[in-house]
Amino acid sequence: MGEGCYWNWYKTYIEHDRGINNYFGLYGTLFHETIEKLMKNELFEWDIKQEITTGMRNFEFKAPFPAMGKSYEESIHRFFDDGSYEQIFSQYKVLESEEEKIFDVGNVKVKGFPDLVANHDKYGFVIADYKTAKKYEGDKLDHNLMQLYLYSIPIKEKYGKYPDHLVYIFPREKGQKEFAYPFEIEKLERTKEWVIDTVAKIEQHTDWKPRCEMVDGKRDFFANQLCNSRCNCIYK
Ligand code: SF4
Repeated sequence: MGEGCYWNWYKTYIEHDRGINNYFGLYGTLFHETIEKLMKNELFEWDIKQEITTGMRNFEFKAPFPAMGKSYEESIHRFFDDGSYEQIFSQYKVLESEEEKIFDVGNVKVKGFPDLVANHDKYGFVIADYKTAKKYEGDKLDHNLMQLYLYSIPIKEKYGKYPDHLVYIFPREKGQKEFAYPFEIEKLERTKEWVIDTVAKIEQHTDWKPRCEMVDGKRDFFANQLCNSRCNCIYK
């Protein structure tokens, strides 16, 4: 079973019970907010270190293991210290960032916040997203890219064209951190079908079981560390 749980989706999107956050969610938000403030000149480079250190100290949730927390803290500092931020973001002419988009896929209302829409020196018109996870590969890449394909719907409505590339920036990667994937209209169509089918499956409550009926919720990383229903789920 891949990451995620249909019951968690049901609780979140049908019952509107958003549950609780986790360390990784807080970390991602801190990274996004830091970039946002830099772009808006609300934060200067000499204050980044303090901003991040203070932000992480105030996290409501701790990393699952101390060594993991140390590694996450080091990697976010490294991204801003070693020139990666400058080198990557100097290539973007930003058109918008973190703007709310509400749009329809069939009868499904979708809301999202594309991290960045920009003209890139090398990749043309792009939708870019920052991910503090490990670099996506294979099926996980294809699955997660659907989020950026969905964003291409309101972006086309606004700018009159689809992006040339979808871009991921993985600040925690050592070495290359920016990866561009050519936009393919067939993949957008497949994404729309997937959204309509998945929402129907969740709403009809058929053909799926809560994740913790299939795995040991006390040992499963998703159920134990990430799931926003992990503290009060009847199935755990
Ligand atoms: S605790 Fe387990 S069953 Fe419950 S929502 Fe989370 S992953 Fe799903």
